Amino acid sequence: MKPEEIEHRINHLPPPYQHRLVPGEADDAIYDECGVFGVYGHPEAAKLIYLGLYALQHRGQEGGGIVCSDEGVLTAHRGMGHVADVFKPHKLARVRGTHGIGHVRYSTCGSSNLRNVQPLVVDYKRGSMAMAHNGNIVNAESLREELEESGAIFQSTTDSEVVIHQVSRSNGPNFTSCIVESLHRVIGAYSMVAINGDELVAARDPLGFRPLWLGRLDDCYIVSSETCALDIIDAEWVREVEPGEVITISQDGIQSQKPFLPTIPKQCIFEFIYVSRPDSYIFGKSVDEVRKAFGRKLAKVDPVEADIVMAVPDSSNPAALGYALESGIPFEMGFIRNHYVGRTFIEPDQGIRDFGVKIKLNPARSAVEGKRIVLVDDSIVRGTTARKIIKMLLRAGAKEIHFRVASPEVINSCHYGIDTPNRGKLIAHNMSVKEIAAFLEVDSLAFLPIPDMLEATGLEPDHFCLACFNNDYPTPTPNQFELHNQTHRHIDHSTEVLGN
Ligand code: SF4
Repeated sequence: MKPEEIEHRINHLPPPYQHRLVPGEADDAIYDECGVFGVYGHPEAAKLIYLGLYALQHRGQEGGGIVCSDEGVLTAHRGMGHVADVFKPHKLARVRGTHGIGHVRYSTCGSSNLRNVQPLVVDYKRGSMAMAHNGNIVNAESLREELEESGAIFQSTTDSEVVIHQVSRSNGPNFTSCIVESLHRVIGAYSMVAINGDELVAARDPLGFRPLWLGRLDDCYIVSSETCALDIIDAEWVREVEPGEVITISQDGIQSQKPFLPTIPKQCIFEFIYVSRPDSYIFGKSVDEVRKAFGRKLAKVDPVEADIVMAVPDSSNPAALGYALESGIPFEMGFIRNHYVGRTFIEPDQGIRDFGVKIKLNPARSAVEGKRIVLVDDSIVRGTTARKIIKMLLRAGAKEIHFRVASPEVINSCHYGIDTPNRGKLIAHNMSVKEIAAFLEVDSLAFLPIPDMLEATGLEPDHFCLACFNNDYPTPTPNQFELHNQTHRHIDHSTEVLGN
C-alpha cells in the first residue's frame, strides 16, 4: 500500500464500531479486554498499526499505544482514550520504524492509568524490548510476588510486566527462546506480540483463549487480534496463530514453533457471543455466521407467537436476524439510533432515569405500537439496561415483549480477560429465569442452552471455555493460586520457627 493511500485512509475513517449503542450502567456490561496488532517490514509501520488499532477499537477504549523499532531504537507513544484521540498526526509521526506493535486496552487487570497502557517498553541487558498482550494471566500475582521478593521493581500493575521481567532474566540464546522460557511459567490467557530491535514475536497461549491472526501485506507480515483489522489495510489473511504456537518474524522470514505440551484448546465462546466484531473470522468461523446460528437455535428453544423480531443494537443484530429467519417472524429495525452522540457524552445522574438510553436510542412507535415483540439480546449481565430498554418499548405501546438471550445464563466472572462484574452482581447468579422475567417485566424469557450454543458453532464442543456459564474453569483460578501461596508461605514460616 502506497504512503498516500495509507494517509488517505487515516484521514477518512468512519466512526469506530461500537457493540453497544446503549450507555448502560458501568457494571451492566461485559467489557472487551484488549486488542493487539503488529507489523514487520513496512516503512509506514506506525500508520498501519494505527489503522489496525482503529479497527480493533471495540476491544478496548481506555487507552492505546504504538511502539516501533527504527534501526534498533524503539520509540513509543501511548495515551489514555480512543485511538483517534491518542494518536494525533504529529504524535503518530514521531513513532518511526519498519516494525512495531500496538495495543488497545480495557483494564481487566491493573488499574486504569497511563502507566498501565501497553505496549510496555524496557531496556535490559540485551537492548530494548516492547510487549503487549490480550488476555489475563491467572498466576501473574504469585509470579509478581516472587519477582518482588528477589528485588524486581515494577513500573505498572499489569500482568504483562511480569512476563517482561522473566524475559529480561532469561539467559536463552535469542529473543524468542527467552520469551518461550518465560511463557513456560505463565498460566492463563494471552495473545501476545513483542518486539526487540530486529524481530517481532507473536504467541498464543496453549489453550488459545483469545484469537490471533497472521496476515500479509505485500512483503510485510502483520499480526492482529481479528481479521477486521487486516481488512482495513487490505492485508491478506494468511492463517490463525494456533493455540500454543510461537512465531518469530525477522529478516530471515518467519519461523514457527510449538514449545508447549499439546492440550485441548479452550477458546473463549464469548468471542463469538459478543467480543469480536461480526465481520471478523475467529477460531475458523465467521463471527456473523455463528451469531446468526445462535439466533436460529434460539428460535427453536422456546417458540413464541409474535409480530416482529427486534435486536438490542448493534451486537445482537446477527442473532436477531437468525431468529427471524428461522421463525419466519419479520425482523424490524424498531430502534432508531442517534449517530451524533459524541464520545464525551456525559452520563446524567441517577435522578434522570433512562435519559442515557433515550439519548442514543428511541423506539420507532409505528413499528412497535400494538405489536407482540421478540426482543433479542446477545447476553445479559445485571439486567438493568435491558430493563430500561424494555420499559421504553412498553411506553411506545408494545403489546407483548418476549425477551430472548442468544447465550446461556452468565453465572460466574471471567478470569481470562473479559471484564464481567463480580458474580454477586450477575442477575443469573442471583435469580431464576422466572425471577429474571419478573424483574425485566417481560411476558416470557428464554436463554440459549449450552449444548445448543455449542452445536451452533459447528466446531468441536470441548474446544471452548464455558466457565462463566458452567463454573468449569480450564485452569486454576487466581484465588486458588493465592490460597496455594498462602499455604506455602505458612509452611515456610512454620519451618523457620521450628528451626529456631
Ligand atoms: S470464562 Fe467466559 S468470558 Fe471468560 S474465557 Fe471463559 S467463556 Fe470466555
